[in-house]
Amino acid sequence: MHYLAYAIIPVSTGIDHLVAQLLAPFEEGPEGLPQRECGGDENNPYGGIWDWYQIGGRWTGYLNNDYDPEKDPQNIETCNLCNGTGQREDEIGKDIRSKDPSYTCNGCSGKGVKTKWPTQWKHHVGDIIPLDSLERDDEKTPHTLFFGRQAIDKAWSYTDPEFPRWGTEDENEDEKKIRREKIDKIETRIRKAHSEAVWSKIDDFRSKDYMLVVIDYHS
Ligand SMILES: [Zn+2]
Repeated sequence: MHYLAYAIIPVSTGIDHLVAQLLAPFEEGPEGLPQRECGGDENNPYGGIWDWYQIGGRWTGYLNNDYDPEKDPQNIETCNLCNGTGQREDEIGKDIRSKDPSYTCNGCSGKGVKTKWPTQWKHHVGDIIPLDSLERDDEKTPHTLFFGRQAIDKAWSYTDPEFPRWGTEDENEDEKKIRREKIDKIETRIRKAHSEAVWSKIDDFRSKDYMLVVIDYHS
């Protein structure tokens, strides 16, 4: 799964390096360390959160409501399946078209151009901002906040054994409804608590000395 994270780093040059340093302790081990079961536990700040990340990525422009990375001309490229013609003419393309004359190209739907993969999107200036300029918005609470040598993450919200996500085979509709309502309540509470923890930590760092970086990571 891909998750949104924010990283708090000191104002300095070498942002890529600072982010790498900050995230390094949380890399999943070669043999795959167990996932952390609780968020923001200071006794267990390490334990493997990510196996891949990049600045921006799927969340490029997330903090700018008027920027859409999928529409940025720099993130659009010629379709390589049809060489920009909009009609796929290789063996596969011809074969599919012989059965379905309306077929154009599955790489670009006949447009000749396509949006690049998020991993190839250009860096967006709005993904690295002075932390001080970020206003609290609970809708934009990240899954994980990296700061200092700690992290607050929300991975634990789905591992409560008392209220399993999946019911038993003989669960009837009423039991299912009750279980779901309980999960909903718990998740709402967890989401609120998580949001509170993240934004109050962000507040702790508010000063001219820190930057906030939008991160896309995989776990
Ligand atoms: Zn195409």
